[in-house]
Amino acid sequence: MHRVISAVLAALLCFICIPRTSAAESPAFIRGMDISSVLSLEKSGVRFFDESGREDDIFRILAENGVNYIRVRVWNHPFDANGNGYGGGNCDVSTAKEIGRRAAEYGMKLLVDFHYSDFWADPQKQQSPKGWKDISVKEKCSLLKAFTLDSLKEIKQAGADIGMVQIGNETTTGIAGESDFSAMAQLFSAGAEAVREFDKNVLVALHFTNPEREGHFKYLADMLHRYRVDYDVFAASYYPFWHGSLENLTAALGYVADTYGKYVIVAETSYPYTLDDTDGAPNTVAKGKNDTGDNLLWAFSPQGQQAEIRAVMNAVREIRGKRGLGVFYWESAWITVGDISGLSGQSYEAQLSRNRQLWERFGSGWAASFACEYDPDDAGRWYGGSAVDNQALFDAQGRALSSLRAFHPALLGDVNADDIINVADATKMQHIAAEMTSPPDTTARLCADVNHDGEINITDATLTQQFAAEIHTGYPIGKTI
Ligand code: CA
Repeated sequence: MHRVISAVLAALLCFICIPRTSAAESPAFIRGMDISSVLSLEKSGVRFFDESGREDDIFRILAENGVNYIRVRVWNHPFDANGNGYGGGNCDVSTAKEIGRRAAEYGMKLLVDFHYSDFWADPQKQQSPKGWKDISVKEKCSLLKAFTLDSLKEIKQAGADIGMVQIGNETTTGIAGESDFSAMAQLFSAGAEAVREFDKNVLVALHFTNPEREGHFKYLADMLHRYRVDYDVFAASYYPFWHGSLENLTAALGYVADTYGKYVIVAETSYPYTLDDTDGAPNTVAKGKNDTGDNLLWAFSPQGQQAEIRAVMNAVREIRGKRGLGVFYWESAWITVGDISGLSGQSYEAQLSRNRQLWERFGSGWAASFACEYDPDDAGRWYGGSAVDNQALFDAQGRALSSLRAFHPALLGDVNADDIINVADATKMQHIAAEMTSPPDTTARLCADVNHDGEINITDATLTQQFAAEIHTGYPIGKTI
């Protein structure tokens, strides 16, 4: 049955890939995935399988499940003087080239996520690259612009289909070692200039965290406006264990979309399928750690993950004027390089020791010991494996979880989200029209309103019945929304 669905999806994906004829048509909703660490995992011996257990290229597995965009982080130089990688995928321009090329092979676009650092950049740290220390903001702007433009040209040359570029990662408190907003704005603008020069059709994104802080996104968007920073997309991280409710997220992003006419996305989200660890390195979410709270509305299971992803997509689709462009899941493939489940004593220690060797050698853990020189207080002390193996969308053996199905495209007419448009959908629309039931969520509501008149009524049901009977309706039923 699954293979049949895959075949149907593959056919639909081919259909979706036909060049667009109408410029006015809004872009396909982004069903994106960050798998920046994947090359390090593959070098460590990790293999990936589809849900039925067939080994395959992970890029193909993702594309067949509806993923249409890959996000990849870029560090300037995550290596020590001897060429040892800092870990976390050792992600630099060369890994972005390889990931971008493989994504394009399966029709997926690329979001290039520049950190402008030699290792992790987030609200706690925004350290300048080693080569950019002790220089003026003006000089830093010029280096940032040149690095951005050169890197984009190289990544494109390798075969990637770049659609969006992030100027900084989680730049809530700073970027490239600068924390004063005026300096930050100059660096954002320098990055934007590089992207415009590279290709005016590529979207410029800025990325922030903490929508749960009252007025925070408003403050940031107002400041960006005041400093006249040129950008297209306001991107947010949304981790339900830290970042408040989805209603609040929609409102916070909605302000930016409504006030400044910007597109908005969720650039990172994730959710655990289990609280158990599988690689011997502590996880961000574990039993007794980030595992309770008002906004953890879903079970820690593949079904719970699927519901979380769908809920985040709904929260973004809620934003008016189709300004909500899409959602990226963070590091769905960062699974264990060696399963420690059920092991104890000597066999546990032996497996952990093998894992440690792989993390050090191939950079497949969140940090290697070599990162100590650059980040002594965090990576230097706590280096090790994956902190999110329990939030991956693949199990410890690399087999796709059912939660990957959350990325199947939503199709006009497919109100029950089973990837097929048939009489069951028409019946459900009739029930909604008769107020016997309501659409389960925003995506279902959008799928059910076949003629786009803002209502779900008998006309939608009739058009869907006609489509199922292969009668031409003139409406784009069966196309992705
Ligand atoms: Ca772990």
